[in-house]
Order: sequence, then structure tokens, then C-alpha cells
Amino acid sequence: MKKQVIDLRSDTVTRPSRGMLDAMFAAKVGDDVFGDDPTVIALETKAAVLFGMEAALFCPSGTMTNQIAVKVHTRPGDEVICDAGAHVYTYEGGGIAFNSGASVRVIQGDRGRITMEQVASCVNPTDIHFPLSRLVVAENTSNRGGGSYYDQQELERISLFCREHSLRFHLDGARFFNAMIATGNDPLQTGKLFDSISICLSKGLGAPVGSVLLGTGEFIHQARRVRKVLGGAMRQAGYLAAAGIFALDHHINRLEEDHDRAKRIGRLLEACPFVTQVVPIETNILVFTLSGMMPDVEFLNYLKEEGILALGFGPQTIRMVTHLDITEPMVGRLAEVLKNCQM
Ligand SMILES: *Cc1c(COP(=O)(O)O)cnc(C)c1O
Repeated sequence: MKKQVIDLRSDTVTRPSRGMLDAMFAAKVGDDVFGDDPTVIALETKAAVLFGMEAALFCPSGTMTNQIAVKVHTRPGDEVICDAGAHVYTYEGGGIAFNSGASVRVIQGDRGRITMEQVASCVNPTDIHFPLSRLVVAENTSNRGGGSYYDQQELERISLFCREHSLRFHLDGARFFNAMIATGNDPLQTGKLFDSISICLSKGLGAPVGSVLLGTGEFIHQARRVRKVLGGAMRQAGYLAAAGIFALDHHINRLEEDHDRAKRIGRLLEACPFVTQVVPIETNILVFTLSGMMPDVEFLNYLKEEGILALGFGPQTIRMVTHLDITEPMVGRLAEVLKNCQM
């Protein structure tokens, strides 16, 4: 029998469960570009209510929700402030320049987390030489930061600073629910702090496709226009939205299991003689470094031969992500494979 693949490359690799597929098949749909897909409307309403925001927009990806937010908040030549490893800057193909013609000021945050003081030090004086500082982006949890989450008080401080200095504040909450489960914070508290929020349904929540952008009614009205320009307005999208509703209803609380498994895998890695450092595990992302005696390519190949997939995340650095298709026996199998790994 062929070995079952244990795919730890990302929490995006999950397949829809039976229950999710049933919900998708049963969805009532319409043409969402005409605004008459009831399931898309239900998802948007549900997400808006959850965060206490006025309105929401269903989009094909988190890249699109982030890029739409940047486009609506800025004018060409404006400046966006974010961490140097932020997804919106590092992993979206230069989209800030391509779509919005904006420049970016990067901060060296602590594992992806920026502080109010760092933001303050990046705001340009109102002098015609400088780009107009316009938008601050926070990412929670931080992907490059290894799943680190913010202290809510810091977000409150940045939010207050932004309001006082006429800066917009956007949350890249691709893995917001991982942060929520780890901290116990209420999404309504988060909704109050940001001008816009992006959440991904296709990461830890396990939907096949989709992200939701949240903001004021006026912001979402403009966002809908930009989504159309980008080619992201979909027709009978209710089939996808149904998966999103199912994910919000059934897959938030179980993220705890992913965090628990990530911590246990972290302990297994710490016990490996060839692992030099495991970045402290806060949620479902593990980042660790290998000693010189274990070249990263060889380690990834060794795992692959054993049916385990992980991701190179920089020189001698590996990322693993737990998710809802990673089971207890898989963790056991990984433990065995790591124990037998000698080079
Ligand atoms: C995955 C991710 C996104 C969006 O990714 P898509 O693959 O476009 O849905 C945005 N921000 C962060 C932090 C992410 O991890």
C-alpha cells in the first residue's frame, strides 16, 4: 500500500471534508456580480457581524483582499508602513507597486510584530519631499514570524496612533482565528481597531477557496469596484461561500488541536541533535533551523522519501504547519521518522 502523505507545507493544503462538501452541494446560489447570490450575502453578513464591522466582501484569495485594501486606502505615491516580512509586501508579487503605485516603508519587527513607536518613527513629516504616510498594515498571526501573535494592547496603541495621525490601519488576518484561539480575544475588540480586516477561509479554517474583506459600508462599496477591476467578481460563488460558512461554524474552535500538535512536534524537533533552534511555537506554524551537519535539501528529501512534506523557509531553515488534515497517527509517524533520521 502506498504510504499516506503527511503534508506539513502549509495549512492551505486541506481538502474539504464530507460535511463541507455537503454544505457546498446544498448551497442556494445566484449571480453575485448582480448581487443576488444569497449564500455569498450570508457569508459576508456573518463575517461582518462577527467583527462588528459594517460590511464585507467575499474574494477569491487573501492576496486579493489585501491588495484591494491597499488600493482603496491609498493614492499613487502614498506610503504604506509594515513589517519587512509582511505578506502584503514580501509575498504578493510586488502588488503594492503594481496595483496601487504606492511605496513601502518597512520595519524590522519582532517576529513580524511592529510597535507603535516603530510606526511613529516611520511617519514622514508633511514636507513635499516625502511620500505621504497613509496606511499601516499589521499581520496577525505573522507567517514569517512563525505564527507569532500580537499583544492586543500593542494593536490598541497602534490603532490610537493611526487615528490621531490620519493613518489608515489594515489587518492582514489571514490566520486571525489562530491568534484569537491562542489569546481568547473577542473579534469584536479587533473589529474596533482597524479600518479594514482581511481573513482567509482557505488556511487553517479548511475551505478550498476564499477570503473576506471587512470595513465600513463606504470602504466595501469602493472595494467591490476594485474587485471587479481585478477580475475577482465571481458568479455562482455561493458554492464557495457555503464552504466558508461551514468553516466559520465548525473549524474555529478546533484550531486549538493544531496549536497543541505544533507544540508537540516542536518538542520532537528540539530533541533532534541536528536541529539548532526551534522558534517558540505560539500557534500552528513551526520554524526551525538545522545544523551544518544536516543540509536542508537533504533533510527535506529524506522527509519526502518517508512521505512527509515540509517547506524550505530560508537557508537551513524549515517551516512546518499543522492543520485539520494532520491527524494523531501522523504525528506519531513523524516522531518515528525524526528519530530514525541520522546523517
Ligand atoms: C496566505 C496568506 C495571505 C493570502 O494568501 P492567498 O494565498 O492569496 O489566499 C495573506 N497574508 C498572509 C499572512 C498569509 O499567510
